[in-house]
Amino acid sequence: MYQVFEPTDAPWRGIGTIAESGLKIRKEFDSFNAEKKFDLAVPDSKEPKGCACGEILLGLKTPPECPLYKKVCVPEYPVGPCMVSTEGTCAAYYKYHT
Ligand code: SF4
Repeated sequence: MYQVFEPTDAPWRGIGTIAESGLKIRKEFDSFNAEKKFDLAVPDSKEPKGCACGEILLGLKTPPECPLYKKVCVPEYPVGPCMVSTEGTCAAYYKYHT
C-alpha cells in the first residue's frame, strides 16, 4: 500500500477534513492517477437537507433523533448516506433496532 499511496488530508462527509486521514497516489505513479489522466473535477459532497449523518457518525445523535428517520428516509428510499448500505449506521439501526 505505502509503495503506491501516501497519506493526505481527506474530507469526511459530515465531519470535515481530517489531517493525514486519506491516501493519495504517489507522484511516481501519476500515470495511473485517474484524476490527472482524465482531468476530472470531483465536486464536494453535500449533505442532504435535514440529514443528521454527520452528527450520528460523531456519536452526537442516534438515528431516531433525525427528523427524517423512518418518515421519508428508509433503506428503500435513502435520503442520506447513512441509510444507503448495509454498513450504514441508520440502515443497521433500522434493520436491527426494535
Ligand atoms: S441517513 Fe436518513 S435517517 Fe440517517 S441521518 Fe441521514 S436523513 Fe436521517
